[in-house]
Amino acid sequence: MRPQTRMTRQRMLILEELRKSRTHPTADELYASVRRRLPHISLGTVYRNLDFLAESGEILKLEMAGSTRRFDGCVAPHQHVRCKICGRIGDIENVNVTLPEVEQIQVEGFTITSAHVEFEGICAQCAESLK
Ligand SMILES: [Zn+2]
Ligand SMILES: [Zn+2]
Repeated sequence: MRPQTRMTRQRMLILEELRKSRTHPTADELYASVRRRLPHISLGTVYRNLDFLAESGEILKLEMAGSTRRFDGCVAPHQHVRCKICGRIGDIENVNVTLPEVEQIQVEGFTITSAHVEFEGICAQCAESLK
């Protein structure tokens, strides 16, 4: 833990709840689980602490096009797949998608420095409900 990360009790509990969860919860979902342990915490406090934790590198903020922002307590490099029906996010481990030619793409007015890939799919639960 870096010394500049001041850990209040609230912040610690939020971090704990997030690290326990493998579902990449939204701020609202985390608020619900943190509230079981800290009944008087406000949603605003949860939001502020999540922003703080993301900025200090303790957690990841997942922003994918067209979906609610979610959070990840696992900061080791990994990819994500989003269910295009319910928005659930799963982890993809040990897959490294690189776009080696990205520097060679010519776009007028830009120097391209990086790119990222978004994976989309249908989760097991949604696949079941489609049957
Ligand atoms: Zn789904
Ligand atoms: Zn993840």
